[in-house]
Amino acid sequence: MGGGCIGASVAFHLAGRGLGVVLVDKGHIASGATGHSGALVRQHYEARLGIRLARESLGFFQRFAAETGFSCDFRTTGFLSGARTRDVPAFDALLGLMQQEGVRAVRLTPGEATSAEPSLDASDYEALVYDPDAGYADPIATATGFARAAERRGATVLEGRPVRSIVTKHKDVTGVRLPGAGLIETERVVLAAGNWTAALARPLGVRLPIRFVRGDVAILRRPIGFGPPPKIHFDFYGNTYSRPDADKDTLAGYMDTSPRKTIARHELADDSVPARTVRDLRSRLSKRFPSMERSQPRGGWSGVYDVTPDAYPIVDAAGPRGLFVAAGLSGHGFKLSPALGRLLAEYVATDRTPEGIAPLRTSRFQERAPVRPEAPFPARRGDRLP
Ligand SMILES: Cc1cc2nc3c(=O)[nH]c(=O)nc-3n(C[C@H](O)[C@H](O)[C@H](O)COP(=O)(O)OP(=O)(O)OC[C@H]3O[C@@H](n4cnc5c(N)ncnc54)[C@H](O)[C@@H]3O)c2cc1C
Repeated sequence: MGGGCIGASVAFHLAGRGLGVVLVDKGHIASGATGHSGALVRQHYEARLGIRLARESLGFFQRFAAETGFSCDFRTTGFLSGARTRDVPAFDALLGLMQQEGVRAVRLTPGEATSAEPSLDASDYEALVYDPDAGYADPIATATGFARAAERRGATVLEGRPVRSIVTKHKDVTGVRLPGAGLIETERVVLAAGNWTAALARPLGVRLPIRFVRGDVAILRRPIGFGPPPKIHFDFYGNTYSRPDADKDTLAGYMDTSPRKTIARHELADDSVPARTVRDLRSRLSKRFPSMERSQPRGGWSGVYDVTPDAYPIVDAAGPRGLFVAAGLSGHGFKLSPALGRLLAEYVATDRTPEGIAPLRTSRFQERAPVRPEAPFPARRGDRLP
């Protein structure tokens, strides 16, 4: 259930194992958070678990066409982020963790960074990390590519078909009910319905600790003379992340969740981005890339993140036998979708929890065993989502 990047990836990987798969979405493929995603693919994670899932997924994005037969339009941009003097110990610990995990990240001085990124003001940074392999993809092409490739492997894809309920008998899943189409009988249901998952799971006795956070994205046309397209930049001090968008634009959003942005509902009545938010993002970004003061707003959008208490996903079997959930993808769902789809498909097919997702079990919050950063971000303030 759910044709976002997660459900479509699971369908692709399940079909690859020769299982009979029906992928159902109430709207169209990528009509949920996936269609609103910034779609950054970086390996800059504070925990080995995140780095490993991100590394596997990045490799898949790089091979997407060979793996699926479709393009996800992955573009390698490189990734830069800096630390001020007081944060250098945390910076070095994080860089060391990534290097131990095989990420090709290197430490740059501000001078080296501005040679590579001439439009950047790095004057307040003591050191920067550069990962040459990071990039971004087209999230709609990615989910669609997974879904079409699943079809080629024999899956059925149903769009515009909301699942009303998951049907159980004697604590076993027996099917899903669609309006007008009766029951699709099945022993296994993967509930990957993004922001709708918690409400769909509740009638089955599954409580998922998920809250909703608004995410705003602005598209800014870079001024003539800006120079080469910028790399992905995480600015923890200015609370912005940015990446190039196609050839001439920059996409920018906020790094941190703010309690002010936690929202009661899982859907926005209006997903347009307020003009004052675009102005705020432009002004923040201009402190890091001064010539962006002359950038031209070209629009943007707002979406909703589904966030767990440790800001890591829940990927697990839950409730009645045969039910699996992938929910609370927080700010990671896009970039981790290839690896999470593979691992969840393995779980569904074998009934054995793959080691790579065992820490993402639902019970970790009651067990007081959340995913903990091994090398917390320098200058971290609050949760970080993109
Ligand atoms: C503004 C923003 C920026 C982001 N930037 C990044 C980023 O840079 N990098 C990154 O990795 N992640 C990013 N994310 C997070 C990422 O986009 C999400 O984690 C990811 O898209 C979640 O995918 P999903 O498949 O779980 O959910 P979704 O994409 O929401 O898919 C769920 C699907 O389920 C369907 N559905 C719901 N109810 C039913 C039902 N009853 N029956 C059938 N279908 C149903 C919906 O129609 C939807 O298509 C961002 C998110 C936002 C909001």
